[in-house]
Amino acid sequence: MALTLHVGIDDTDSMQGGCTTYVAALLVERLSKLGVEFLDYPNLIRLNPNIPWKTRGNGAIALRIKVEPQLVDRIRSEVLRTVEENSQLGIEYVDPAVVFLTGPVPEEVKALSRRALYDVVDVGYALKVAGRCGMEVFAYGDFRGVVGAMAAVGEELTGDHTYELLTYRVVEYRGKPRMVSEESVAEMDRATRPRTFDNLDPETGRVLITPRGPDPVLYGIRGEDPYTLLKAMKIVKVGEPIERWVIFRSNQGTDSHLRWIDEPGEVKPYRAVAFRAVVYSKPYTIPGGHVIFRVSFKGEVFDCAAYEPTGGFRDIARKLIPGDVVEVYGGVRPLDSGLTVNLEKLRIVELAKKVEYRNPKCPKCLSTMKSMGRGKGFRCRKCGFRDPKARKLEVELPRDVKPGLYIPPPRAHRHLTKPYSRYGQEKKGMRYGFVEPWHIP
Ligand code: ATP
Repeated sequence: MALTLHVGIDDTDSMQGGCTTYVAALLVERLSKLGVEFLDYPNLIRLNPNIPWKTRGNGAIALRIKVEPQLVDRIRSEVLRTVEENSQLGIEYVDPAVVFLTGPVPEEVKALSRRALYDVVDVGYALKVAGRCGMEVFAYGDFRGVVGAMAAVGEELTGDHTYELLTYRVVEYRGKPRMVSEESVAEMDRATRPRTFDNLDPETGRVLITPRGPDPVLYGIRGEDPYTLLKAMKIVKVGEPIERWVIFRSNQGTDSHLRWIDEPGEVKPYRAVAFRAVVYSKPYTIPGGHVIFRVSFKGEVFDCAAYEPTGGFRDIARKLIPGDVVEVYGGVRPLDSGLTVNLEKLRIVELAKKVEYRNPKCPKCLSTMKSMGRGKGFRCRKCGFRDPKARKLEVELPRDVKPGLYIPPPRAHRHLTKPYSRYGQEKKGMRYGFVEPWHIP
């Protein structure tokens, strides 16, 4: 009887090159040749983006396959060989891990995965769960990669999800500028949006499908379904050979990391949180162009920061005033000044009344009166009229911002950030079958 085998992989790469998705792409080819049946697209699972020791996007991989029991040993050694050959072993903070699990994913692994999306998970705890759930663990270095590898296995993407088609460069081109035609990316964007997302940054026109840096990815197109991704790939023109490409199923663009919390005690370092609060201080801009304001969450005060790279989003933050009711979404950073929520999104729920107090006009000559001292009324400087009962007038000023959801521009998105265009396209309990082809070779 064939078995279901889940393979989780993480932490194979460093800033100097490599990419865990590339290891997955190699394995798709190698395992297909061994005759295994893929039960799903490789899963590209993004985890808590606030983990300080991540290389880039905190991504991990799960492969889910159906195999005959006699092939399991062969597959295990193929996976381990591929990971070892393609990991940046020996470089600091590269602690690759591979986990294997047969049969259905236990609830405890799913729970660990949910936690790894918004919180920091302890390696020792992960290893205990692996032991209890009969997972086989292979890890190098300080075992840190086990958390990501297990979390990838635990996230079966039964709810909302997206797809990404990733293309890879041949060895000789890696590290050199990527030759991807910007016009063709713009054309692809026009032809496939909103079924694809975050292709370009509208504020700057910058192409977002190509990463920077020496990793083997040439470009990645993110979208709602695998059919649109094939269509999009045909439109993008490149001036260099593509070694291989694979379609991944992913939690990118789903906001699945943002955890709604009801108590201020849950605002903890490195968590990804969302909560409702009241603006407590006027926003101000600090050197570097970052905008900071304070919010009160059930009596506890936190800083919120709209960082410089969020561009025009900062203008919205600047328009807040004390008393506005907001929902803040983002990662918690421990700073000397206290806990700061690094804003990924902001919802303005209710605007406070903005008022200004003005001196009254003289009822006789209509010029502006002057105060005679606190509580002593006003006097007209022009005609001398005095009114000891006169008070300052409260004038309501218009607010130049509206309630609603505000998201920074795509260039500042995290992989997990749900862009505007995905609202209303969320998937519930459905998924697409394999398109033909879904990988080459
Ligand atoms: P890339 O996006 O290029 O694959 P990366 O940003 O995913 O790189 P990794 O090299 O995978 O970076 O490093 C992330 C490390 O953090 C891994 O060792 C992973 O196991 C660990 N990790 C991920 N999520 C958590 C979490 N929630 N708690 C604790 N450790 C985590």
